[in-house]
Amino acid sequence: MSTQVKFLTKNFGQYDTSSIGSYMNIGGFEALRKAVNMNPEDICTMLTEAKIRGRGGAEYPLGRKWSQARAVRGENKVVICNADEGETTTFKDRELIKNDPFNLIEAMSIAGFVCGATDGFIYMRGEYACHRPLLLNAIRQARNYGFLGENILGKGFDFNIHLYSGGGAYVCGEGTALIRSIEGKAGRPRMKPPFIKVSGLFARPTCLNNVESLSLVPHLLQDKTTYMNCGTGESIGTKLISVAGNVNKPGVFEIPFGTTVREIIYNLAGGIQHDRNIQLIQFGGASGKVTDASILDTPYTYDDLRAAGVMVGSGGILVIDERTSVIDFLRMNQEFFSEESCGQCTPCREGNLHIKIILDKLAKGEANEQDIKTMTTIAKVMSMSSLCGLGETAQNSLLSAMKKFPQVFDLGGARA
Ligand code: SF4
Repeated sequence: MSTQVKFLTKNFGQYDTSSIGSYMNIGGFEALRKAVNMNPEDICTMLTEAKIRGRGGAEYPLGRKWSQARAVRGENKVVICNADEGETTTFKDRELIKNDPFNLIEAMSIAGFVCGATDGFIYMRGEYACHRPLLLNAIRQARNYGFLGENILGKGFDFNIHLYSGGGAYVCGEGTALIRSIEGKAGRPRMKPPFIKVSGLFARPTCLNNVESLSLVPHLLQDKTTYMNCGTGESIGTKLISVAGNVNKPGVFEIPFGTTVREIIYNLAGGIQHDRNIQLIQFGGASGKVTDASILDTPYTYDDLRAAGVMVGSGGILVIDERTSVIDFLRMNQEFFSEESCGQCTPCREGNLHIKIILDKLAKGEANEQDIKTMTTIAKVMSMSSLCGLGETAQNSLLSAMKKFPQVFDLGGARA
């Protein structure tokens, strides 16, 4: 299996990202022309056949999501592009925005057409502010050329896109917090129901999608065959991943599903610095699970990674070498969540803090067996009773590390 492909990234470097004419010269907006002449339900079926799961981490089937968005009754529906990309070690969406901004605008317009929306919002993380001018220019030019605005391509379809920048809070990647942030409120999650597909932004029916999920759609409409011929089993096609940590060549790579983790780390990312040993690998950002080097020969697919105890998640892969202990890594991860918790609900606000305290004791050799039991209980309670995904998943790294590295938590044994 080849280790890198160009399907989603095939436009990278092929046109002047400040010019719509340059984009149109390589076939830009042809997918939108095709889409508006199709039955929107057929587009949902195409996405379902391609088995595209949401690339932000939740892995919800895209075809089903768009079909549900179409079916919701209501006026002035909204499509949101979640470009918050707050998961640590995840920076693939930034590459799509930077290298192919017009494709994202085209994709949102197609999403608007399929879902029956009148407005699209791009919620971009504050740290990506340097890319605002590029996107604003792309939106302006698309409007001037009739790909946004009223009566798009003469089909009686109206759709506009608005760009909104967040303030950099991790929790604003969660759908309801993101929506509150756009509404001008504090970016804190709310209880569901009502689900955002029924009552989202400004109480309008809302369909929320990740940058990569959206960006795939114009390419699929133009060349479904190439995509369907990539990948393996239930994981069809390609995936954009970002690799970070103690590797020689951290970066963003497009791989066919089925590439092994070894090929990703040793071929694409250049192997481990100074040929050190791998201590642990975390998949899917700070909220992802961790494992050890025994995963190297596992194919990167949704099912194979899940069977190995981790998940694709956000597409980030963090490689930590032997210089960092498992406990020190967990302390760092825990500190992140303690700071990013919005503090609204008790299990997450208090739980993250107390787990950090116990991990600090463990690092100093001051923890006892009761501390380990308490930490485990807190982690499980958080997973079950937190209000949003942050609190539910903040302990993924700890609980998975306890399974994979039991010796670290065995106070009678050696500490890694
Ligand atoms: S789980 Fe954490 S981040 Fe989510 S609402 Fe509760 S306190 Fe806030």
